Amino acid sequence: MARNYERSEAYFNEAQKVIPGGVNSPVRAFKNVDRSPIYVERGKGARIYDVDGNEYLDYIGSWGPLILGHAHPVVTAAVQAAAERGTSFGLPTTEETDLAKLVTEIVPSIEIVRMVNSGTEATMSALRLARAYTKRNKILKFEGCYHGHSDSLLIKAGSGVATLGLPDSPGVPESTGQHTLTVPYNDLDSARVAFQKFGHDIAAVIVEPVAGNMGVVPPNPGFLEGLRRLTTHYGGLLIFDEVMTGFRVDYHCAQGKFGVTPDLTTLGKVIGGGLPVGAYGGRREIMEQVAPAGPVYQAGTLSGNPLAMTAGLATLNEMGRAGSYEQLEERGARLAEGIATNAKEAGIPHHINRVGSMVCMFFTNEKVESYEQAKQSDTKLFSRYFNEMLERGIAIPPSQFEGMFISKAHTAEDIERTIEVNREALLAL
Ligand code: PMP
Repeated sequence: MARNYERSEAYFNEAQKVIPGGVNSPVRAFKNVDRSPIYVERGKGARIYDVDGNEYLDYIGSWGPLILGHAHPVVTAAVQAAAERGTSFGLPTTEETDLAKLVTEIVPSIEIVRMVNSGTEATMSALRLARAYTKRNKILKFEGCYHGHSDSLLIKAGSGVATLGLPDSPGVPESTGQHTLTVPYNDLDSARVAFQKFGHDIAAVIVEPVAGNMGVVPPNPGFLEGLRRLTTHYGGLLIFDEVMTGFRVDYHCAQGKFGVTPDLTTLGKVIGGGLPVGAYGGRREIMEQVAPAGPVYQAGTLSGNPLAMTAGLATLNEMGRAGSYEQLEERGARLAEGIATNAKEAGIPHHINRVGSMVCMFFTNEKVESYEQAKQSDTKLFSRYFNEMLERGIAIPPSQFEGMFISKAHTAEDIERTIEVNREALLAL
């Protein structure tokens, strides 16, 4: 078998001379899986092809955005047509209003919405707005949730329940950590303690309604509802970071699926259909504090970019077709079931979490409801598993702490093939 990765390796060597670590986002370096990255030449549907000519069934999907698969003809045609008209003006275009209208129709909490260029920008801006609106400084986040790389959100838990946070990265001032509280995911009691201690200074709780940055961890029954009650009681805002879950776990996002409505929502990934977009939106009276309607400053030269708006519109319209999410659910359920059967047969410790088309296999027999539990997974075994899969032509995210993303382009046969390859890979461990 032994695939050849010669060209990818050569490109990576070149890249390391001129790009920090050779990549423009850390996880792409494949460090977590003890190898160098594959360089992608092109993608079509559920498949990608690397520069050495290897073909892969792809479950990375650009880490979530490509819910229709690669180079979907409708999206590609729309982007091409938009490019012909010009790539950026820094002046309003009608596509911005079209996408904003669609988003306000689909997302329960969003009355008005501002487009930005990434998930990081969306969460950073939403926090500034929440702080301005409530005239409070502190925010509460959950261990293992990732909300982009702005200073306030690159904070890990201090020791003990409801203590102030510590910077996760050099370059983040300790004083910033003083405003970020961190408690375990799915732990409503700890959140309650944090509110009892700091409640009247908490501007917002920010949460991934399904945690997708510690593998896949669904909210326990009552968790999101409890956060809604706490924030309402103490007068803070509830922010759902739906950068990953938005239009992914349901057309109406996680908030539609679970029936809990936040004050503000952040979006990214799918909303850009593979182009760089983020967005934040919510209740009108809050959002109208944003400049130029209000005093909270936030801007962007390329925000609302016509190519990106067009790709997002085409993607959301396609996903709005009847049966889209039923198909994803069916594929996801079958994949999770197949993997579980294989793991049992191979005698591999496993726990599989899934929400719709997000599927994650942890290498532990214990349930995974928090980051602490996710970390119990045998990441060395995951690394070997990843490589066995890659060698057999299946690309899954090169990290234990991210799920597989199924797209609408994955056929029932693709899923069966994946289950068969998973079986071989697990038996080879
Ligand atoms: N929030 C969540 C929930 C995310 O998953 C991510 C990215 N994985 C971000 C925010 C940051 O988005 P971006 O990488 O576009 O800045």
